[in-house]
Amino acid sequence: MSESMSSPSPSQALLELRDVRRGYHQGESRLDVLNGASLSVRAGEMKALVGPSGSGKSTLLNIAGLLEQPDSGTVFIDGIDSARLRSAKRTLLRRQHIGFVFQFHRLLPEFSALENVMIPQMLAGLDKFEASDRAAQLLAMVGLQDRVDHRPGLLSGGEQQRVAIARAVANAPRVLLADEPTGNLDPDTAKDVFGHLAAITRATRTAALVVTHNQQLALNMDSILTIENGHVVELA
Ligand code: ADP
Ligand code: MG
Repeated sequence: MSESMSSPSPSQALLELRDVRRGYHQGESRLDVLNGASLSVRAGEMKALVGPSGSGKSTLLNIAGLLEQPDSGTVFIDGIDSARLRSAKRTLLRRQHIGFVFQFHRLLPEFSALENVMIPQMLAGLDKFEASDRAAQLLAMVGLQDRVDHRPGLLSGGEQQRVAIARAVANAPRVLLADEPTGNLDPDTAKDVFGHLAAITRATRTAALVVTHNQQLALNMDSILTIENGHVVELA
């Protein structure tokens, strides 16, 4: 792969947002949430995104994850300019290169932990046996080798989030986006779940952007970003 030749992005970042703008109409007026937001995250790097409710963190993450389109500006995923892709190709890029973890696990309740991690792989074309092997490996990486047959309802909150982390990396994404992944957990469980998220990010050399209200966890990441007046500002 001659990435250096084909990449339109000058940096080695796996995730890069450049001058992203996004506003919403609210009745008569317009709310500018992102007003020229830029950031980049490299392989194996974890960046925290903090800030008050309503400052645009989820909007930024949804745009970074190609779930939502910016009004203007560019999102590069592994050097690929997503704005240049047609919708079907952008969806493919998202499925192949981006993993998500949300505040609430969003696991499928009628399937086991193993199946929840297998399903995205099978949707991506892997056969059942390969998907099952990889799912078992990933669940072991998050310490759930003894819970593979449990349905989400029989798992604790922390265990559910660990399955969600394993699922997020099931297709070996280049970018991992997490929106308050420990927001629903007690402090000790949050620390444990974050530890797994960090370990898997480093092990897979994924670029991670993590929204959190937990200062302790933010301080454990490589840098801390916030959104001020629609711009991304680095706090630490
Ligand atoms: P955060 O995640 O930091 O709490 P959000 O990105 O969810 O913030 O929201 C930022 C602002 O944009 C908020 O004021 C919110 O009300 C507004 N907003 C978000 N999504 C929409 C939408 N689909 N329509 C209108 N306003 C929205
Ligand atoms: Mg939010």
